[in-house]
Amino acid sequence: MNKKRLSIVIVILVIAAGVLGYLTIQKSGTYNTNGKIGVAVSIGPEVEWVNAVGGDKVNVALMVPSSADPHTYELLPGQLTQVSNAKMYAMIGTPLEFETNYMDKIKNTNPNMVVVNCSQGITLIPNTAENQSDTLDPHDWVDPKNAKIMVNNIYQGLVKVDPADQAYFANNRDQYLAKLDELDKNTTQTLKNKQGTNILIFHPAFAYYAKDYNLNQTAVMINDEEPSPQRIAMLVNIAKDNNIKVMYSQPQYDQKYMQSIASQVNGQVLMVDDLNENYLENMKNVANAFSQA
Ligand SMILES: [Zn+2]
Repeated sequence: MNKKRLSIVIVILVIAAGVLGYLTIQKSGTYNTNGKIGVAVSIGPEVEWVNAVGGDKVNVALMVPSSADPHTYELLPGQLTQVSNAKMYAMIGTPLEFETNYMDKIKNTNPNMVVVNCSQGITLIPNTAENQSDTLDPHDWVDPKNAKIMVNNIYQGLVKVDPADQAYFANNRDQYLAKLDELDKNTTQTLKNKQGTNILIFHPAFAYYAKDYNLNQTAVMINDEEPSPQRIAMLVNIAKDNNIKVMYSQPQYDQKYMQSIASQVNGQVLMVDDLNENYLENMKNVANAFSQA
């Protein structure tokens, strides 16, 4: 090979590498819906719900990773690209900070998208923590009865986006609603001897659940602030007075506070998650964990 030929080959290789690199960057920066209906959702449980109703017609993009805290999570610029490729956005529709902070931006990014308020038809309850009773509790999704309403709202949205597949979506919805009924029935059974039991928990995510299954939720964290040493000392006394040996924390938070309370009463900490993407399986675990209180 002469020098001129060699240099042409090198130039071609350099250009090819550049094009390949450019395409790779384009691909990783784009939400590829693979010809399916792109549906963006705020939090983990909605992933299972949209997939359950939408089946193989949908491609779900989760905004707040389930390991992150939706009260403080900051939307990444790349996620607006996902929103711009979506046909539908399923918002929780409660005063959840991720949505109160970003829904305007999300809607402006893709004004043609169908926006579903999953909580339409659910009666929200006030926050139960001290000095927060003038605000509404955003965590309505943890109650399986509310989940049924939310799944039905997702169904209505998908029919708006793709009316031709209504029968398919309706069949999928009915199958999943039956599973939620079964979860509700099993939860009642699992917790039937726990009426009025005190649930000492780090972040107050289970008020709707506690109301439905007759538990009492006491939270360590208030106003999304780390608890003070005085508050920890007060909760240790509450745990002692009420003989609380099993208490709860969530994977999104620092475990040191619950560990500290538990160690002072010779108790133990169990994990419960309100943001897991596998809703049915996770809520079964939650019921089992609360049955040990
Ligand atoms: Zn929360």
